[in-house]
Amino acid sequence: MKVIDKIKQRTKTLFSIEIVPPLRGNKIETIYKRIDPLMEFDPAFINITYHKDEAVYRKKVDGTTVKRIISKRPGTVALTSTIMNRYKVEVVPHLTCGGFTRDQIENALIDFNFLGIQNILALQGDAGHDQTNFIAEENGHTNAIELVEQIFNLNNGKYLDDDMKQATPSDFSIGVAGYPEKHYAAASLESDIQYLKAKVLAGADYIVTQMFFDNQKYYDFVDKCRAEGITVPIIPGLKPIALINQIDVLPKLFHLSIPEDLDKAVRACKSNDEALEVGTQWGIQQSLDLIKNGAPVLHFYTLGAGNSIQRIAKEIF
Ligand SMILES: Cc1cc2nc3c(=O)[nH]c(=O)nc-3n(C[C@H](O)[C@H](O)[C@H](O)COP(=O)(O)OP(=O)(O)OC[C@H]3O[C@@H](n4cnc5c(N)ncnc54)[C@H](O)[C@@H]3O)c2cc1C
Repeated sequence: MKVIDKIKQRTKTLFSIEIVPPLRGNKIETIYKRIDPLMEFDPAFINITYHKDEAVYRKKVDGTTVKRIISKRPGTVALTSTIMNRYKVEVVPHLTCGGFTRDQIENALIDFNFLGIQNILALQGDAGHDQTNFIAEENGHTNAIELVEQIFNLNNGKYLDDDMKQATPSDFSIGVAGYPEKHYAAASLESDIQYLKAKVLAGADYIVTQMFFDNQKYYDFVDKCRAEGITVPIIPGLKPIALINQIDVLPKLFHLSIPEDLDKAVRACKSNDEALEVGTQWGIQQSLDLIKNGAPVLHFYTLGAGNSIQRIAKEIF
């Protein structure tokens, strides 16, 4: 079932999670361990992130350096299929402009279609670790608007090869990302929202937000989007703090702010167990307030969240 239909048919706020594939060389069981305890809360869908290949430099014993191109977290397509079959749950693979030419994107969409996947989260993709800003692939897309257009076209039977007539259309529900505190590369929140609107006009059915810790930022963002005529559901993304160092790492990594109260409380913690407790309680309060204010879904980022999501879900769902 499509995410957008699940949202339309919901009678209450839904629960969903994002899973990050294991680091290269790690077991798939690490993912099952993360998902198993959350299944009792009946996730409406599970997102699986995508990580493009990166250049890594390895020093050899003779002192020379070799460059290798590897993905640190491969396995998105296989995980999508495995999780869907193992848990009988809707799965939303992420698809990025980074790492794919347009033709490779079409191939990936055909794979997802054949696997019975009905949902895609369309993204520009992270900049490489040695890049400040995103650099498009040769023959690839520069931004998520173009990627949404390609998926929308395929949904209408329009493949890249103009000579293909009466080709089978796909039928994907398309999600895109939104940033309550603005995307780091955007000139302003206003311009960022205009590009977000362009993604919706290109065919996106719903928006999932970057994590935030102050609900007011989400409410203000939703208000601004609505004022600009964006009417699709806006799903809040939540990541409970579980480690003391996340109070410094998350703002740097994701270009977001931490409310003073939370910042003080985490910095006063003497152990990560204490920080997990603070983060869990904050997450419970954030969730209760979002539900009270009619959020369609609460979407939890599971990476580095310890067992806090299970505890929050127990209180909420
Ligand atoms: C929910 C969520 C899930 C994510 N999952 C992944 C993942 O699995 N893998 C991964 O690599 N990354 C992931 N990311 C990170 C994401 O790829 C980065 O934040 C990326 O920098 C932006 O992606 P986007 O799709 O929002 O980009 P876009 O919507 O393309 O926007 C990127 C920037 O370009 C600007 N822009 C957009 N269109 C135009 C235009 N036409 N002209 C000029 N400027 C424009 C925007 O204002 C913004 O500043 C995720 C982010 C979120 C919020």
